[in-house]
Amino acid sequence: MIPAAFDYTAPESLDAAIAALVDGGEDAKLIAGGHSLIPLMKLRLAAPSLLVDLRKVPGLHGVERQNGEWRVGALTTHTALESSELGLVSAVAGTIADMQVRNRGTIGGSLAHGDAASDLPATMLVCEAEVTLQGPDGQRSVAAADLFKGYMTTEVGEHEVLTEIRIPALEGWGYGHQKFNRRSEDWAMVGVCAVVKASDGVCEDVRIGLTHMGSVPLRATAAEEALRGKELSTENIAAAAEQAAEGTRPPTDLNASAEYKEHLARVLTRRAIADAVGGG
Ligand code: FAD
Repeated sequence: MIPAAFDYTAPESLDAAIAALVDGGEDAKLIAGGHSLIPLMKLRLAAPSLLVDLRKVPGLHGVERQNGEWRVGALTTHTALESSELGLVSAVAGTIADMQVRNRGTIGGSLAHGDAASDLPATMLVCEAEVTLQGPDGQRSVAAADLFKGYMTTEVGEHEVLTEIRIPALEGWGYGHQKFNRRSEDWAMVGVCAVVKASDGVCEDVRIGLTHMGSVPLRATAAEEALRGKELSTENIAAAAEQAAEGTRPPTDLNASAEYKEHLARVLTRRAIADAVGGG
C-alpha cells in the first residue's frame, strides 16, 4: 500500500503546469484531489515518475453563471458543487462517496479520469456540457459526448489540463437522479440521471444518462426516443423506461450480474423520469 517513489512539483501558473507535464515526459501526471490517482498509486496500478499538483494554479476554482450557462473551474470540489445552485449537478455531487472524498475530489479529476462508475460523467452527457482543454499547442473545447473514449480513457491528452466545464443552465427542465448501491456512500451499482422538458403534460425533450452500464458513461437513447413527444403519463414513462438498457453492455462484477444491472437501469430510469416530471 505504499506508492513507488515519485517527484513532486506544485507550479503557480497554468503555463508552468503544462511545461512541467511536457518536461516530465509520458510518466508525469497531474494531481487534483488525489482521490482516484493516489489509491491507484498505492495499489501500484499507476506509478507516475512526477506528480504535477494543480492546487496552486489560479483560476481553476469556483462556479459562476455567465450568459445562460454555468462555468465551473476544474478544481471545484464535489462539496462546492453540492452547495451551488446547479440543480441536477448539485444533487448528483451530493451522492458521491463520503464527506472526506467530496471535500477533496474535483469535477475536473472525475471527468479526466473517466471512470464509468463515477457519477459526474453521465451527468455531463445529460447536461450536454463542454470542457476546455489547455495544452502546449493552445486551447480546445470538447463536448462531453466526445470526451469519454473507453475504459478510463478520455480525450484529455497527456500534456493537457482540463481547465473548465461549461454547463447549460437547463432552465425549465425538471431533473431526477437515482443511484443504486448497497451502502449509502458506495459507488453506484447503476446510476441514472434524467432531465425532462415538459409542455402541457407532454414530453418536449428528455435526456437520460447511465452510470456503470458499460465502459463509458452512456445516454439511454432508445428510452429517450420512446418518450419524446409523448404524454408524460405513468404508462408512457414506464414503457420508455423498459428500453433503458437497449444497446448497453454492463460489466458483471462482484456486486451485480449484467442482467441485474439491466434490470436496475430500467427501474431507476422510470423513477428518475418520474422525479424529473415531479411525480416521483
Ligand atoms: P485525481 O485523483 O487527482 O486525478 C484523477 C485523474 O485525473 C489522474 O489521472 C489525474 O492526472 C487526472 N486529472 C486530475 N485533474 C485533472 C485536470 N484538471 N486536467 C487533466 N487531468 C486531470 N466518485 C464518484 O463519482 N462516485 C462515487 O461514489 C465515488 N466514491 C469514491 C469512494 C472513495 C473511497 C474514493 C477514494 C473515491 C470515490 N470517488 C467516487 C472518486 C472521487 O470522486 C474522485 O475524487 C474523483 O473521481 C477524481 O477527482 P480527483 O480530483 O480526486 O482526481
